[in-house]
Amino acid sequence: MTKNEEFEIEITDMTDEGLGVGKHNGFTWFIKDSIVGDTVLCGVTKLKKNYGFARVIRIIKPSADRREAPCPIARQCGGCQIQQMSYEAQLRLKAAKVRNALIRIGGFAPEHIDEILEPIVPSEKQFRYRNKAQFPIGRDKEGNICAGFYAGRTHSIIPCKDCLLGAEENGLILDTVMDWMKRYHIEPYDERSLKGIVRHVLIRKSSLGGFMVCLVINKDRFPKAEELKAMLLSSLEASGIRLKSLSWSPNTEATNVIMGKSFETIYGESYIEDCIRIRENAQDSEIRFRISPLSFYQVNPGQMERLYAGALEFAGLNGRETVWDLYCGIGTISLFLAKEAGFVYGVEIVPQAIEDARSNAALNHMDNTEFFVGKAEEVLPRWYAEHAEENADVIVVDPPRKGCDEACLETMIKMQPKRIVYVSCNPATLARDLKYLTEQGYELKNARPYDMFPQSVHCECVVRLERKS
Ligand code: SAH
Repeated sequence: MTKNEEFEIEITDMTDEGLGVGKHNGFTWFIKDSIVGDTVLCGVTKLKKNYGFARVIRIIKPSADRREAPCPIARQCGGCQIQQMSYEAQLRLKAAKVRNALIRIGGFAPEHIDEILEPIVPSEKQFRYRNKAQFPIGRDKEGNICAGFYAGRTHSIIPCKDCLLGAEENGLILDTVMDWMKRYHIEPYDERSLKGIVRHVLIRKSSLGGFMVCLVINKDRFPKAEELKAMLLSSLEASGIRLKSLSWSPNTEATNVIMGKSFETIYGESYIEDCIRIRENAQDSEIRFRISPLSFYQVNPGQMERLYAGALEFAGLNGRETVWDLYCGIGTISLFLAKEAGFVYGVEIVPQAIEDARSNAALNHMDNTEFFVGKAEEVLPRWYAEHAEENADVIVVDPPRKGCDEACLETMIKMQPKRIVYVSCNPATLARDLKYLTEQGYELKNARPYDMFPQSVHCECVVRLERKS
């Protein structure tokens, strides 16, 4: 086959990135914008030895799961990969992804997985569920200042102030920031020349009402801060929106990491406060959290509550256990665990997140916790070397997409907890790590997928492992 050659193909699978997959002429083809069940006419864009990439020219027979994507720029924007699929089909795809990863990568028997894998927990909200948005600021084709999204895998900005996954108020906040830039001649950052000032605008919405705004700035000094504060306060207040925190974070590096390493508050508090309520033993349990602009916080509040309730359920605590919460962020899971455990240790790499975790423990009057800054794979082995005789009853991990470092898993095994709860945002690394843990004396008891990110291919999962007696 040659480049641009056209052929007809049926899509039978999808990759983890949301590309349609089909077989034709002994080749495996990866085709953007197609979904399982489609038959499409496509054109070759790239050829490899035994696989290739192609683009959709025309849909010949649409999949029964296909729908019109509600967002007009869903195809260009990299954020949602499967908006053109019905929500039912999205859930089926994600559940299958978890099952396949556990079988193919984890090496578990299909019968075992079918026994322990629970149905995926759907998200109540399928749009407007995100409490956080990060908009790059740049210039559009006409040279006007704009906010929007990077077109999938590129550095060009597609103007869009109203992402359908985010809060409706984001548009007004962005408009005000851009008005301030125009009025005071403050340049947007340009990734090619590395010049200009405003890189990103981070917006967080609290479930208690109120917003946090943080500007990422390509300078060590923030210009016209008082003016921005005045403009934001007046435009937001006129619309009944409360500004709780305005800050900026310096990031002068040529990197695609969005936030800088520090931040300074211009107005209000240095954090935004949120409240998580989970239903446990038929009782409501509520904890307040303060979140700094640099800390990780789950983006889908409704699902976050279900996810944490699941982690707590799988931890099966009785009030006396010593528990470790690795990759603890601002201590969200840690504090729910601390309500039901004897003592909880948290470990997290971002220093500001640990500051938040400590102040969250104090804010909620929970003194049975201790938090360490550092890499889980370094803090845990160091701690174990000095405290090998102290036991850990339950270990909870919630690592980023790349999963746990082997040094971390190895120490977890040495600590011999009764139970391990693994919260994962990547089924592939989850399966890899579960393979390791189950080869070292643990048994996979439950796995429950959660749809935290409707319209995207991502899938979260909570898993329970028990030590074999
Ligand atoms: N459990 C928290 C955070 C989960 S996100 C919550 O539910 O809110 C994963 C967290 O791991 C992030 O806060 C990230 O900063 C942190 N992290 C990433 N690599 C790490 C490592 N090697 N050691 C410890 N923490 C790490």
